[in-house]
Amino acid sequence: MSATKTFGLAGILGWPVAHSRSPAMHNYWLAEHGLPGSYVLLPAPPERLPAALAGLPALGFRGCNVTTPHKQAVMPLIDHIDPMAARIGAVNMIVVEPDGSLRGFNTDGNGFVQGLRDAKPDWRADEGPIAIVGAGGAARSILAAMIEAGAREIRLVNRTHEKALRLAADLPGPVVPVRWEERAEALRGVATLVNATTQGSAGKPALDLALDALPRDAIVGDAIYVPPETPLLAAARARGNRTVNGLGMLLNQARPAFHAWFGVMPSITPGLKRAIEATF
Ligand code: NAP
Repeated sequence: MSATKTFGLAGILGWPVAHSRSPAMHNYWLAEHGLPGSYVLLPAPPERLPAALAGLPALGFRGCNVTTPHKQAVMPLIDHIDPMAARIGAVNMIVVEPDGSLRGFNTDGNGFVQGLRDAKPDWRADEGPIAIVGAGGAARSILAAMIEAGAREIRLVNRTHEKALRLAADLPGPVVPVRWEERAEALRGVATLVNATTQGSAGKPALDLALDALPRDAIVGDAIYVPPETPLLAAARARGNRTVNGLGMLLNQARPAFHAWFGVMPSITPGLKRAIEATF
């Protein structure tokens, strides 16, 4: 991409966005690769979202990330939607095309899957049943990525069963909605367990899930990265399971975005991890 030679602008569009780690990540990579550019906060309240999007090409932005509460709201406002983002029903990244049109992607779910592969290079979606707990935005993107990765059986557990049923209907695939009361038993024979709820994040109680039926060779992933080890991951690690937290998801969703905007596929290095962990 010849774009690497000129000053590049990207940012994160949300409301609020001050808490975001994305500037730390992308500005680290810009400095690491000696690229002229900057990644900035783009706070925009919902009523200004159309104007904010129109401002991206007008101001010469290469694109932006999209976060709460705009991930769904941007969809009717942008010109092209990538198939994965269409399936998920949410956009987390926008590229400004050379003609000024906007193209929306969703890299969250694949970021989570790549985080699993980083922790276990031979991880496969079809090596055994997958259990996903949660049916919110994170679960939706992870479920879509797991289906695309070739999962053969996904047990989708959520406290509010109707949301699991709706999500399974929205994303055709080998998805079996499981009732909350049956969550412990749903871990039997599972190769990959995913927490995509808010339970276990800083200030919240632990996910209420007994691990007794979970095979000890299963990998356990959590979308949460603050704290770095949730009570679920601590319990899984204590009984011998391999574990991976949500930092890999955060870092891996950002890599294809940086590549699209700045023309270089960046790496996840110990230095980057230290820089992000220093913001916690
Ligand atoms: P969300 O859309 O609000 O969904 C929340 C989920 O948590 C729902 O499934 C909800 O179940 C469940 N839940 C809430 N309280 C519960 C309780 N007391 N017991 C059992 N389940 C409960 O949230 P989200 O956007 O999907 O985010 C989920 C987590 O993923 C958050 O901690 C977020 O920080 C993290 N995340 C991480 C990344 C990353 O890059 N690593 C990216 C996105 C999100 P109900 O349907 O029953 O309410």
